[in-house]
Amino acid sequence: MIAEVIVDVAAHPIDRPFDYAIPSAVEVLAEPGMRVKVPFGNRKVLGFITKIKPFSEFDPKRLKPIHELMDVMPVLNGELLKMAHWMKEQTVCFEIDALQVMVPAALRAKYEKRFVLNAALEEIASPLRPYFEKRPFIRLQDAVDVYGLLKKEMEKGTIIADTDIQQQTAVKKVRMIHVTDSLEALEAIDIRANAKQQLKLMEYFLKNAGRTIESSQLQKETGVTLPTIYSLVEKGAAQISNMESYRDPKLLTAIEQKSFLKLTEAQQTAFDSIDSALNTPKTFLLHGITGSGKTEIYLQTIDKVLKQGKEAIMLVPEISLTPQMTVRFKERFGDQVAVLHSGLSAGEKYDEWRKIQRAEVKVVVGARSAIFAPFQNLGLIILDEEHESSYKQDDSPRYHARDMAIWRSEYHNCPVVLGSATPSLESYARAQKGVYELLVLEKRAKNQPLPAVHIVDMREELRNGNRSMFSVQLADAIRDRLEKKQQTVLFLNKRGYSAFVLCRDCGTVMQCPNCDISLTYHRSSETMKCHYCGYDERVPKTCPECESEHIRFFGTGTQKVEEELAKVVPEARVLRMDVDTTRTKGAHEKILSAFGEGKADILLGTQMIAKGLDFPNITLVGVLSADTTLHLPDFRAAEKTYQLLTQVSGRAGRDILPGTVFVQSYTPEHYAITLAKDQLYEPFYEQEMAMRRVSGYPPYYYVVNIQFTHEDLMTVAEYADQTVRYLNSHLSPGTLIIGPSASLIARVNNRYRYQCLIKYKKEPKLTDAMQQLIKMHRTEWLKKGATLSIDMNPTSV
Ligand code: ADP
Ligand code: ZN
Ligand code: ZN
Repeated sequence: MIAEVIVDVAAHPIDRPFDYAIPSAVEVLAEPGMRVKVPFGNRKVLGFITKIKPFSEFDPKRLKPIHELMDVMPVLNGELLKMAHWMKEQTVCFEIDALQVMVPAALRAKYEKRFVLNAALEEIASPLRPYFEKRPFIRLQDAVDVYGLLKKEMEKGTIIADTDIQQQTAVKKVRMIHVTDSLEALEAIDIRANAKQQLKLMEYFLKNAGRTIESSQLQKETGVTLPTIYSLVEKGAAQISNMESYRDPKLLTAIEQKSFLKLTEAQQTAFDSIDSALNTPKTFLLHGITGSGKTEIYLQTIDKVLKQGKEAIMLVPEISLTPQMTVRFKERFGDQVAVLHSGLSAGEKYDEWRKIQRAEVKVVVGARSAIFAPFQNLGLIILDEEHESSYKQDDSPRYHARDMAIWRSEYHNCPVVLGSATPSLESYARAQKGVYELLVLEKRAKNQPLPAVHIVDMREELRNGNRSMFSVQLADAIRDRLEKKQQTVLFLNKRGYSAFVLCRDCGTVMQCPNCDISLTYHRSSETMKCHYCGYDERVPKTCPECESEHIRFFGTGTQKVEEELAKVVPEARVLRMDVDTTRTKGAHEKILSAFGEGKADILLGTQMIAKGLDFPNITLVGVLSADTTLHLPDFRAAEKTYQLLTQVSGRAGRDILPGTVFVQSYTPEHYAITLAKDQLYEPFYEQEMAMRRVSGYPPYYYVVNIQFTHEDLMTVAEYADQTVRYLNSHLSPGTLIIGPSASLIARVNNRYRYQCLIKYKKEPKLTDAMQQLIKMHRTEWLKKGATLSIDMNPTSV
C-alpha cells in the first residue's frame, strides 16, 4: 500500500503530497490523519498521511518507505483533512501549516539536531566515546564542548549529522494501587511486629480488599510513604499499574450547578429562530446590546443541541475567555465542558483536546483554534463577539475562525450563531442582504437602563487650565464612588502610549538599531527592549547623540495613570491590570477575583479589561482617551473605536445600581464617539459604510495585502515592483493595485519591508495569480533571501 503524505517542508516549491511505501509490518495500522516520520532528502521530517491508495504513479521500487508511524489513532479525521485542503486554497498557505494548526501544539513536530554514530565505537576519538556509550547519538545542545572533535569525525565519515523528531506529547500517568481481593491471601502475609508503617498499611488493605486507589491518595489517607507501599506490593498484598489521567486546570471559584433562566420574550424569539434551524447550515447574526442576554441564549441552544445527542463549539475571543465565562458554562454543563485557551500549559491543552477527540465532553469553550475541535457530530457553532480581530490568525495560516465555522456548519448541517453588540461591518452587511439571518435584542435582559454616557471635551479642560489626564468631572465622580464604596473601572487605550526613553536636551528617543521603531523601557530590569526583534540593552547613562546626562524615562501608560491617580484619590486601593501585572500564570484571574471580592476600589487597565467584567458594584467607568484608536492608520479605526467604547461602557451598571460612564476625548464630535454614546449602531453602520464606499474598503471591496522583506532595500523594492507589474498585467481592469510602497514600519530586524494592496469586487483570476506569485517566490526570490506573505483578508490595513 502507498500513503500520500503532506510533509513538514514549508519551503518546497510544489505544495503537494508525496507518495511513500507503507512497510508491511504497519500496513494494517496506517490510516489517513496519522502523523508519520518520513525521509525527505537526507533528513527525517514529520508528515501527515492524507490518503492511502493501492498504487502510485511513480516507480514503486523508487518510493521510500515510511520511517515510523507516530500515532495509534489518527489525530485528524476525514473532515479536518478536507478542511485543511480548503484552507490552503482559501488563505494561500502551505497545506502542512493548515494541518499543524488543527492539532494541539504538543502534537506538532519539534526537530532536534544530533550526531549519529556511523561506525564502530572504537574508531571514534577516545574523548567522544563516553558520550556514545549511553546512546548511539549526541544532541546538538549537549555537544557544544566537543563540537571540534565531532567535526573532524564527520569529515572522516564515522559520525553523521542528523535531525530527529521529538515527540512532545506527554500523556500524564498516575500510579494506581490495586489491593488484592482475597482476604485470606492478605491475612497470610507476614509482617514484622516492629514494621509500624507496614502494619498500618496492611490494616488499611484488609479493610479495602479488592479496591483500587490512586497512590497519592493512599499515601494521604494512611500517612505511609511510597517505599512502604512497594514493600507490601513485593509481598503480594497489592499490585501497581500506571493509568492515563488528565491534568485538571483548577479554577479559583467553586462551581455550583445552576439551572436555566426563563427567557425574556425577546430572547425567546431569537431562541426559537435558532431552534427551528438546528439541522440546517444557516448563519445567524445575533445583534444584542451588552447585557441583553446573548450568553443565556447560547447556553440554552447548546443545551438543546446536547439533548439531540450532538456537540457544540463555543468560541470567545481569548481576551474575554475569563474565568467568569468558564464558570458560567461549567455551572450549566458540568463535566461535559472542555476549555481551551492560552493560559493552559501544553499538557493541559492536549488533555482537553483528547477529551474532545474521545467524545468524553460535548461542549468546548475556547479561543480561535478551538474551531478545529475534533467533534464528529457537531450540532451548533457559536462565535461570541464575532467582530473581534483575534478571530483572525495573523501569521500563516491566516485563517478567520468565522470562515472555518461556516465551512464546518455546511459539512455538519448545523447552524452558526455570530453574536455581538457591535457586529463587524462585513457581517452586518451580509445580514442586511439576507445572507445571514438577523436576530435582534434591543433591551438589557434584566431591564436595567443603559449607563449614562458623558463625553468630556478635553480641549475645554485644557482651556480651563486643567493639564491633568483626569477631567474635573471624572475626578469628582471617582471621589464620589470612593465615598459610596462603589467600584470604578478606568480604561486606558494602550496603543498610543508605550514606555520609552528620551534625551531631554536633544529630544532623541532611543531607537532599535535593527528596526525603525523606538525601544520600550522596562522599569524592572532597567533595560530598553525592542518588541519587534527582541534586541535589548541597558538604559544608557548619557545620550548617544549629544552625551547629555538628562535621560528621562516614560513608564507605560498604566503606570503613569496610576501615579496621577494617587494624586486625585490618595486613599483609594488600586489594582492595575496590564501586560506587566499579568505576566505570570493565573495573574489575570487573581486580579479579577480580588476586584470582584471588593478588595480594591479602582481597577485600572488596558484593552484586557474591556470585556467580560460582570460585577454588580461597578457604577463608574472612565475612558481616559477615546482618541488613540481613532487615529490609527487603519481603515477600521472608527469601527474599532465604536466597538471599544461600547464594550467598555457595558461594564458599568450591570446589576441594580445604575452606571455612569465618562469618555474623555480631544475629538468629541467624531461620529464614532457620539454614536457610541447612545449605542446607536444602525446610524453608525450607515455612516461608516458611506466612508468605506468612498475610500474603497471592505465590505465594498475585498482587500489582499502582500508583504515583502529583504535585507537589502534595493532588492525588496525590485521584488515588490516586479510583483506589481505582474499583477497589473494579469488581473482584471476593474481591480485596483495600490503600491508598491515601504511598510509603515519600514525596517524590522534589519530587514526592509515593502507592501502592496489589491482591492477588488470580483476577481476570477485572483487564486490563480496568487498561486503564480508563490511559485515565483519559491523558485526565484526565496533563494535570494526574500520573504513573501499574502494576507487574503486582512483585518486591518
Ligand atoms: P450578554 O451576553 O448579551 O452580555 P448575558 O447573557 O450575560 O448578556 O446577560 C446579562 C445579565 O442578565 C446576566 O447577569 C444574566 O444572568 C442576566 N440574564 C440574562 N437572561 C436573563 C433572563 N432571561 N432572566 C433573568 N436574567 C437574565
Ligand atoms: Zn541628547
Ligand atoms: Zn528591533
